[in-house]
Amino acid sequence: MYNFSISSLFPFRRVKIDSFDQIVDSDKGMAFFTTISPDQRYKPFCHKFGSKADGIHSLHHRTLRDLNFGNNPGFIIQNYRKVYCSPCVVLELKN
Ligand SMILES: [Zn+2]
Repeated sequence: MYNFSISSLFPFRRVKIDSFDQIVDSDKGMAFFTTISPDQRYKPFCHKFGSKADGIHSLHHRTLRDLNFGNNPGFIIQNYRKVYCSPCVVLELKN
């Protein structure tokens, strides 16, 4: 039995692939959606100070256009988290 995995097509670190879906619309045709989320094994880094985050501020998602799969468009639905760290909290309190 052939066990196909799309993991090698997405060499991103610190994310996991949640699902890979094929959506068929009678008007627009077919599209592929890959949903990725942060890998919970890794503690996130603050984008401003580069230090390890102390907590999760909020969760969001965005849809990115990916390469086509054949003649059909591909999209990546990225679930991501906004984080905060101690320097961020101190900076926020000063302002
Ligand atoms: Zn921070």
